[in-house]
Amino acid sequence: MQILDGKAVAAARNLEIKASVQKLTAALGRAPGLTVVLVGDDPASQVYVANKLKACQKVGIASQALRLSAEVTMLELKTVIQRLNADAAVDGILLQLPLPKALDAEEAIGWISSKKDVDCLTAENLGLLWSGRPVTTPCTPWGVIKILEHYKIPVAGKRAVVVGRSNIVGKPMAHLLVQADATVTICHSKTVTLREHTLDADIVVVAAGRPEFLGRADFKEGSVVIDVGIHRKSASEGKAKLCGDVRLAELDGVVRAATPVPGGVGPMTIAMLLENTVCLAKLSIPKH
Ligand code: NDP
Repeated sequence: MQILDGKAVAAARNLEIKASVQKLTAALGRAPGLTVVLVGDDPASQVYVANKLKACQKVGIASQALRLSAEVTMLELKTVIQRLNADAAVDGILLQLPLPKALDAEEAIGWISSKKDVDCLTAENLGLLWSGRPVTTPCTPWGVIKILEHYKIPVAGKRAVVVGRSNIVGKPMAHLLVQADATVTICHSKTVTLREHTLDADIVVVAAGRPEFLGRADFKEGSVVIDVGIHRKSASEGKAKLCGDVRLAELDGVVRAATPVPGGVGPMTIAMLLENTVCLAKLSIPKH
């Protein structure tokens, strides 16, 4: 089984992004800017945001986190987002999800200017993506496509199954695979015969958010398995370990290739966030 090393692919990608950032900085007279809005103190979100800011710093993107209390009102959040929409030094706005339960994430996403929507979550940008004219592309599914491209895994004409139908991963993943000429099936929690579908697929992208729930018996010989899931396993002693939705160790000798967790899709998600920031910053280059 070939391990699809997302960390290595992201590192190579980030070198290219760094070069684009340098050119953009010269063209704009300032570094491209990303602001992350973090509401509340969810520990996983704190880690994700810290990793995103560190990655920005490495490639020369000017990044900052605006930390808001979990008690912030919708009106206060709207004021913050509107201020960022109007700030010429901010190219990308990322509202870190999930928001505390009292807040309406759908409504808040709708306040982000589509020209600064670095996660491709607004209705306008999703519409443009669906019609084949993307401004930005959802980071995680885009990262998956880049891994497949990097390892020259054929997608056109293949049967692909996406397990999960969230707006941020499953649905855009299915769309990007269709764009790459795969024949795609989307499975979800109401799918009755999940294994029948996964066993029939050449490529399976698993984004169900269920720790280690698929294994050897679920995949066809020679297939390619992309594990989007990320979970913290509580270790009996020492540091908590990460795992995905798939029991990777069982797949050796069965599947052709698979992504590990950690070190698979996660680093590519961050690389694509940087890439989307660059795409948005390019919109601000003065036209002569
Ligand atoms: P959601 O919880 O929003 O969606 C999960 C999807 O999986 C839903 O569509 C759900 O179906 C489906 N599902 C749940 N159980 C089953 C099941 N038994 N069989 C088939 N389908 C099932 O999660 P996200 O899409 O946001 O994220 C998925 C996973 O990916 C999570 O572990 C998340 O942490 C991880 N993630 C990782 C990223 C990375 O960079 N590596 C980035 C983003 C997410 P239904 O719609 O019917 O409820």
